[in-house]
Amino acid sequence: MTKDAARSDEGLTVEGVALARGTRVETRLRTLELADGSWVELPVILLRGKAPGPVFYLGAAFHGDEVNGVEIATRLAGEIDPVQLSGTLIVAPAQNPLALQAQHRYFVGHFLKSPLDQSPADPWVSFPGEADGNMAAQIAHKLFTQLIRHADYLIDIHTPTTGGRYAPFAFLPPPGAGEAARRAEAMAEVFGADFILSTEQGLYVSEQSPHVVMARRGATAMGVELGEGGRLEAEITQQGLRGLRNVLRWAGMLPGEVERFGARQVIRTMHVVRSHRGGLVHRRVGLGDTVGAGDVVATITNLFGEETEQIRAPIGGPIVRIATFPIVSAGERIVQIGVLR
Ligand SMILES: [Zn+2]
Repeated sequence: MTKDAARSDEGLTVEGVALARGTRVETRLRTLELADGSWVELPVILLRGKAPGPVFYLGAAFHGDEVNGVEIATRLAGEIDPVQLSGTLIVAPAQNPLALQAQHRYFVGHFLKSPLDQSPADPWVSFPGEADGNMAAQIAHKLFTQLIRHADYLIDIHTPTTGGRYAPFAFLPPPGAGEAARRAEAMAEVFGADFILSTEQGLYVSEQSPHVVMARRGATAMGVELGEGGRLEAEITQQGLRGLRNVLRWAGMLPGEVERFGARQVIRTMHVVRSHRGGLVHRRVGLGDTVGAGDVVATITNLFGEETEQIRAPIGGPIVRIATFPIVSAGERIVQIGVLR
């Protein structure tokens, strides 16, 4: 399949608005009607460059507790001068407003009311969406038809859900996507991700996620994960902004030299290490540390103060994700170890 148009923002209209060159427009995308007649609308910032060029879509906060992404997207949209820009940048800082209101991964109110009808309650894995689908599918449909399908490039910003923290990593479309996957890997390197996930299996390559849907249409598309859910962190914001500015230079949309930074290690999967006992977690390793097979990554103590478990790494590799909740039950995630490609 090919995407709708050639690599150019010529003739682009969004929600029926034809954008003048060299301008910034703030608008709201109307998605669906709630019981009281109010509408779920999401903010969209459109930066139409003075010169023609590609269409770049930047989205954040499909999951409503992923606050750093909102800040990164908003700040980037605020700092770019459309006169310096070639092409069009479409920024949607909060792609799932009901979840943002709840500051939760999902729009929990509607999900609890009707868990069967609202499953999956996640627009992120509901692409390209359905006009007649559940709430998540309708939000995805509006995002896709009005904004995302125009894109030559797409970056979707995530953080782990509340209680977890990732080293900056990028997730690519599956290698089976061919040339689009190779271009996404090049973009991930320019973003300066410490880790780049290139895998054929699992949640990060759902055929219903926007970066995979767009890769199948020929766009250069990926997601990133950085920082910690539920928190707003200045250092993470700066890391995200640095990576995105570099990607825009690489795509020829902003002037300036492309820099090289970040560890950029490609991993093919992440091994999840869980607890077998309940209690308090005492983590022994940090994000980005390299562990050997058999190393203790954490201990668990029960509420009598006894150490009940030493959790050991089943394989060696870099620590790419840590849980930050200090209280666990058996079966909860403690760390994830990257498996290098
Ligand atoms: Zn997310």
